[in-house]
Amino acid sequence: MARVCLNNISRRFNAVTAIADITFEVPDGEFWVLVGPSGCGKSTILRTIAGLEAATSGKLYIGDRLVNDVPARDRDVAMVFQNYALYPHMTVAENLAFGLKMRQADAKTLRDRVETVAQSLNIAHLLDRKPRQLSGGQQQRVALGRAIARQPQVFLLDEPLSNLDAQLRDDTRAELKQLHQTVGITTIYVTHDQVEAMTLADKIVVLSQGKIQQIGSPQAIYSDPANQMVATFMGSPPMNLLPGVLQGDRFHIHGQSIPCPAVLQTVLRSAQGQRFNLGIRPEHVQLAAQPHDAHLSAIATVIEPLGREVLVRAELPANGTTAHVLNLQVPPTHMPTVGDRLPLQLDLEHLFVFDPTTGERIKH
Ligand code: ATP
Repeated sequence: MARVCLNNISRRFNAVTAIADITFEVPDGEFWVLVGPSGCGKSTILRTIAGLEAATSGKLYIGDRLVNDVPARDRDVAMVFQNYALYPHMTVAENLAFGLKMRQADAKTLRDRVETVAQSLNIAHLLDRKPRQLSGGQQQRVALGRAIARQPQVFLLDEPLSNLDAQLRDDTRAELKQLHQTVGITTIYVTHDQVEAMTLADKIVVLSQGKIQQIGSPQAIYSDPANQMVATFMGSPPMNLLPGVLQGDRFHIHGQSIPCPAVLQTVLRSAQGQRFNLGIRPEHVQLAAQPHDAHLSAIATVIEPLGREVLVRAELPANGTTAHVLNLQVPPTHMPTVGDRLPLQLDLEHLFVFDPTTGERIKH
C-alpha cells in the first residue's frame, strides 16, 4: 500500500488541456472518488497515475517514489476498466492468477491467493469456467479479483460498475466497499454515479473542465459545497436554483420574496439591487402547515410517488418570463394533485447564495 500524491499535474493534448494543475494527496489506504461531468478529465487523471498517459508537467509520487518516468508495469498499480478485458481462453482461476504468475509467485502462494480472493468476491464456485460462461457481474468481479490478487500498492478503477444492471450494481458496490474495508489498498475510483461517490468515498474530488472544484468528505461536498457547480452536480433531484434580486433584507423572485439569511446580511450589505442565484435542496422545501408560514407559492406540475416519499415539481409563476421550476419532497400523506397552489416553506438555514457570474458561493 502507498499514498498517491499529485503535484500540479497537467496534461495537454495539442491545443486541448485535459487536466490543469491537479494537486491532491490520497493517504495510504484511503478510498478516493473522482467525479464530474463527461470530459472533465477524470480518466486522464487515472491514466496518468497508471502510467498510460505521461503528465505534460507536474510531479507524481506513489509512496515516496517520483514515478513520472517509471513505466506503467513498474508502478505497482492495478487498473480495472468498465469493460472487463479478461483473457477469454483462460479459466477464472487462471485469470485470477495471471498477474501473480507474471511476478513468478510460487505455486502455493498462487493457489492460496486465488482461493482467498475468489472467496472474498463470491466467485469461488466459478473457478473452472471460462469468461464467456459468466454473467456480466461475475466477469466484473473476476476483473476486480485479478487486480486484487496481485496485491498492488494502488488500485485504480475507471467506472468499473457502469456495465452492470441496477441490482447487480448495488450488490457489487457493497462488495467493493466491504473488500476495501478488509484489504485496505489505496484506491482511486472514477464514476459518473453520485450514489457510488457518496457511499464509497473517504474523500470526493469534484472536477470540471480539467480543474478541481472541491475536495472533501461526501457529507462536506453535499452540505457545504464550494460553488454552484459542485452544489448542483451532487444531489438527485438536484439543488433548486432561483434567481433573486437583493432589495433591503429580502431576495425578490418574480414578484415574491424570501428573507436573506441573517448570517449573510453583513457580507451582502453593499450588494443592493444585485442578482444572485439562490440554491436550496428539495428536502429543504416543505409544504407550509399554515399559510402565514409560507415563503413562496407555486403550482404543482408533476407528481412522482416513490413509496417512501413523493417528488413534486412545482412552478413559480413568472410574469411573462420562463417559469422557474422547484423540486420538493413531501411525505406520501401530503401528496398534492397537479394544478394545486402549494404554500412552500423554505428551510432558510440551508439556503445557498451564489454569484451568478462566477458561480462562487457567498459565505459569511
Ligand atoms: P468521461 O466521463 O466522458 O469518460 P472524463 O472526465 O474521463 O470523461 P477524459 O477522458 O479524461 O474525461 O478527457 C478529458 C478531456 O481531454 C476531454 O476534453 C477529452 O476530449 C480530452 N482528451 C482525452 N484524451 C485525449 C486524446 N488522446 N487526444 C485529445 N484529447 C483528449
